[in-house]
Amino acid sequence: MTFLAALGATSLGVRAWLAQRAPRASADASVEIVSVDTTTSAESDEPATTSTKESAAPASGAAPKRPYNVVLLTIDTLRFDLGFAGYPRPVSPHLDAFAARSTVFERAYALASYTPKSLGPMLIGRYASETLRDREHYTTFYPGNVFLAERVRGAGGRTAAANCHLYFSWKFGMDQGFDVWDTTTMPPGMTDSDPRVTSDKLSDRAIRLLERIAAQDAAPDGAPAPPFFAWFHYIDPHAPYVHHEGAPPFATMDGGPRARAVYDEEVWFTDAQVGRVLAWIAEQRWAAETAIIVTADHGEAFGEKGHWKHGREVWEPLVRVPLLVHVPGASPQRVPVKRSHIDLVPTVLDLMAIPAGEGELRGASLLADVFAPDGEPLEERDVLVDMPEGPFNEARRAIVTGRSPGLKLVDFGGARRELYDLAEDPWENRPLPLTGERFLEAREAYERMTKRLRVTAP
Ligand SMILES: [Zn+2]
Repeated sequence: MTFLAALGATSLGVRAWLAQRAPRASADASVEIVSVDTTTSAESDEPATTSTKESAAPASGAAPKRPYNVVLLTIDTLRFDLGFAGYPRPVSPHLDAFAARSTVFERAYALASYTPKSLGPMLIGRYASETLRDREHYTTFYPGNVFLAERVRGAGGRTAAANCHLYFSWKFGMDQGFDVWDTTTMPPGMTDSDPRVTSDKLSDRAIRLLERIAAQDAAPDGAPAPPFFAWFHYIDPHAPYVHHEGAPPFATMDGGPRARAVYDEEVWFTDAQVGRVLAWIAEQRWAAETAIIVTADHGEAFGEKGHWKHGREVWEPLVRVPLLVHVPGASPQRVPVKRSHIDLVPTVLDLMAIPAGEGELRGASLLADVFAPDGEPLEERDVLVDMPEGPFNEARRAIVTGRSPGLKLVDFGGARRELYDLAEDPWENRPLPLTGERFLEAREAYERMTKRLRVTAP
């Protein structure tokens, strides 16, 4: 019997599981095991307009069968316009196939346009300005933040992560809450813009870690192990772009910037490596009990609005990201309304049946969308992008508000604002006047949302 079958039979949540299980020793000499301070707690604040309550029960036949294991795969610098989103080059056949059996969030936004201001806040479940951090580009997050993995572990779940860039060295705080924090695929002597390819090795490592976690399901005392949360972060699409043997000849396909063609090779290679993990999971006996989320920390610009790479602005190619959520039992579908990474923590907690205190998190679980009955209108929610100032970037914020795709108001700090209608102008080429009803509507939404932020100084 698998552990989730047992859970289902006894209606135990993860927290109840904790009472039954002794702390689990982890165990591979090659894995860096990090001890984490779990004594901190999230402060509650004023009532949020969104909450972490259970998702509304789906009206159709399908319903979430919690708790699930959750595997989170994040890919650095991956643009939203992959094959399943209409990009004509065959860069993502494996993710396209995965999208066909998942919920595709067609208008998902990252919280910022560079890694630390995106991933850290995403995994904390609060906007970057609200996190406890220093002001370095490679932001260090302090123990006072409560990361998702801490919540999972605090509820008795198992946690593991592997990643391959120096930013994920333990000292930056992203390891908080992980039983296993594996950086063995980080190239020796790695530099910030290291060209060495890592996705193949990371996928090998991810499979090995998942194998080991799954082996724990058959505990010596016969009791099933609690659910797990595992996170793997791929870096290869990040510049510098390198060629990959066997990649399709993207440069000859349809014009476009030369750099994009090489970037596309990186995406193609990473897609194949991520596809290997997805295919392997699909063959495991625990696949039917495991939700998988695939997303990116931010996108990449290739000349849009005169911009290249990422990290300074919050234009659409920079902050829109792919977001695929596969939950066993849910019908594949497309979600056309805008959503945000702020919803990731509530979603994972919802999947794992772990409660969060009222007001601790900003987002709302996406399971209501994943299990929405056909034809039922989905809730419209405003999206806030919040990128505080750093050594290499000025502060930027943006709200996307109203009916999707929505009006986007960008705040450049000081008095400068720009307003776009994403329905008519998806690439933000024609700013609207900062007068009239639409501007006032966007400004009011922006002020309402930013007024709720509990901004902390770095
Ligand atoms: Zn990044």
